[in-house]
Amino acid sequence: MHLLPKFDFYEAYDMGEACKVLAEMKSEGKIIAGGTDIMVNMKKGLLSPKCLISLARIPGLSGIEPTSGGIAIGSNLIVSKLLEFDLIRKKYNLLSKAASVLGSPLIRNRATIGGNIVTARPAADLPPPLMAMGARVVLKSKGKERELALDDFLVGPGQTKIKSTEILVSIIVDEPPPFTGGDYIKLMHRNALEIAIVAVAVQITLDGPDGSIKNARVILSSVAPKAIHAVSAEKVLIGEKPTEKLFKKAAALASTDCTPITDIRGGAQYRCAMVETLTHRALSAALRQIKGK
Ligand SMILES: Cc1cc2nc3c(=O)[nH]c(=O)nc-3n(C[C@H](O)[C@H](O)[C@H](O)COP(=O)(O)OP(=O)(O)OC[C@H]3O[C@@H](n4cnc5c(N)ncnc54)[C@H](O)[C@@H]3O)c2cc1C
Repeated sequence: MHLLPKFDFYEAYDMGEACKVLAEMKSEGKIIAGGTDIMVNMKKGLLSPKCLISLARIPGLSGIEPTSGGIAIGSNLIVSKLLEFDLIRKKYNLLSKAASVLGSPLIRNRATIGGNIVTARPAADLPPPLMAMGARVVLKSKGKERELALDDFLVGPGQTKIKSTEILVSIIVDEPPPFTGGDYIKLMHRNALEIAIVAVAVQITLDGPDGSIKNARVILSSVAPKAIHAVSAEKVLIGEKPTEKLFKKAAALASTDCTPITDIRGGAQYRCAMVETLTHRALSAALRQIKGK
């Protein structure tokens, strides 16, 4: 470990100011949110930005606002705060489940939702449930704003579509339609301070209380360079009645949709087997949620 390199620290008081400073610094300025990733990387000597621009004092970036069809989550909302919202626990439960297993209390009290997304770790906990809920990200730069599906925003390990002049301001999540259920399951060697060996996030929507599956998103994490859709599992689910046999078939297909590596946390074959097990469990839990059981 190195000592931290020297850097300037800029506290922006509004979004316009933050965008202006970031644009002036060209690629030598970096946003700092909770600092749980960027500080570690700077200490390791992997990054040495000339200036860190803090978002902490910008109002409106650390809350949850209602939108016409759902919610906008401020990018600077810390993970432990996410757990305090009744609305998130009740309507967006897979997100609160993922937040509850991220790192440790210490990390959850500093890390932000925006930082977890922009860091783009293949095993990050918050992107999978957000992708399962079809989330979009809002990016701002000097005089410009654009919205991207989270699916498209994440590119690979540590890589996203964010430009060096852009700030992630919010994450938009639509309210789950009626007869929707979901779950997030993270497989770990221990219960805290552990990144996922495999994680699965699922959201399914039925066309009625006893109806067929109208929409299904099955997201696999830690088994590819970024969180991915289990495309063949999703295809086989849509249009069918949610049965045990169907869930088994979808889970088996999900294990063929991933391309895990073998590393210290688990072998590729083991990870594929766990994708099948966790997908089956998550689909069953999602259905139980819809049925209120
Ligand atoms: C001990 C330990 C355990 C951990 N365990 C887990 C775990 O179990 N699961 C997990 O998912 N992660 C884990 N992490 C990783 C980490 O805590 C998360 O990735 C965290 O959410 C990053 O958020 P942050 O606010 O700290 O980001 P920062 O470190 O402040 O920033 C990270 C990156 O995102 C950029 N950035 C941040 N916010 C914005 C924004 N609004 N707009 C543009 N760019 C932005 C920064 O410039 C930087 O490049 C762990 C980390 C540690 C140190």
